[in-house]
Order: sequence, then C-alpha cells, then structure tokens
Amino acid sequence: MGVEERFEYWFGPSGQFGQCIKCFGCRDACPICYCKDCYLEADRGRVAGGEIPPDAMFPMIRTVHVMDSCVNCGQCQDACPMELPLSRLLFMLSRELGQMFKYEPGMDASAPPPLRTVTDEELMVEGVELAL
Ligand code: SF4
Ligand code: SF4
Repeated sequence: MGVEERFEYWFGPSGQFGQCIKCFGCRDACPICYCKDCYLEADRGRVAGGEIPPDAMFPMIRTVHVMDSCVNCGQCQDACPMELPLSRLLFMLSRELGQMFKYEPGMDASAPPPLRTVTDEELMVEGVELAL
C-alpha cells in the first residue's frame, strides 16, 4: 500500500482503529510495555476517557511506544477482541526501524531501543521527519 492507502486502512472512517473498543487488551498483553503510568490512561491527559472508539491519539501513542522494541510475539493481536491486525503493523515498523538502526529487539537487555537514543539528525530519513 502507498502512504495514503495505509493511512486510510488504519485511520480512515471505516479503518481498523475505528473498530477499537479501548479495552486495553493489547497494552496489557504486551511483554515489552513497561511504563508504570501509562499515557493511554485518561488521567495522563493525552487520551480522553470514555470515548469509543478512541481518537487517533490512542493507537498513535501505543504504536510509537512499542514500535522500536516489538518482538513480534503476536500477543496484542491475540488479545484484541476486535481482531485488529496489530502485530502486523507493529512488527512491520519494528523491522523497518531495526534495519535502519541495526537493532534487533529482544536480543540484548542492555541495549536501549533506538528511539531512546536517536539524535535529531538520525530522525531525518530521506527528508521525512519521524519525530513530532
Ligand atoms: S507483537 Fe509486539 S506490540 Fe504486540 S504484544 Fe508482542 S511485543 Fe507487544
Ligand atoms: S485490544 Fe483491540 S480493541 Fe482493545 S484497546 Fe487494543 S486495539 Fe482496541
């Protein structure tokens, strides 16, 4: 898929994330999700409480937080009651970032994931800024 088609597939009016019921199953099942105070919770002020489907910040935050360290275990996808193809997205991103930064998630506990250590210059890839 091209960029626009991908965006439509995930975020469009009938896209995958529009079916999310915000059950937190994907987050709770993920073995590499470790924040004590999760930004997906309403009291962190990033995602409104009681909104179903949640707005795009919900999947965006979750995706950005794990996309450089996803080990493709598939547990998020297995846990999703709406059967969203979550590990397909996360592993694709993780694999692309791993190739860019020569990093293999899950292999060395002492090596921080690339987005922890990346410089502003490294975030510029072929003119596309990855960081917001
Ligand atoms: S596939 Fe990746 S994002 Fe999904 S639960 Fe496993 S490690 Fe977490
Ligand atoms: S497991 Fe599926 S339905 Fe539940 S919050 Fe995650 S994406 Fe949404």
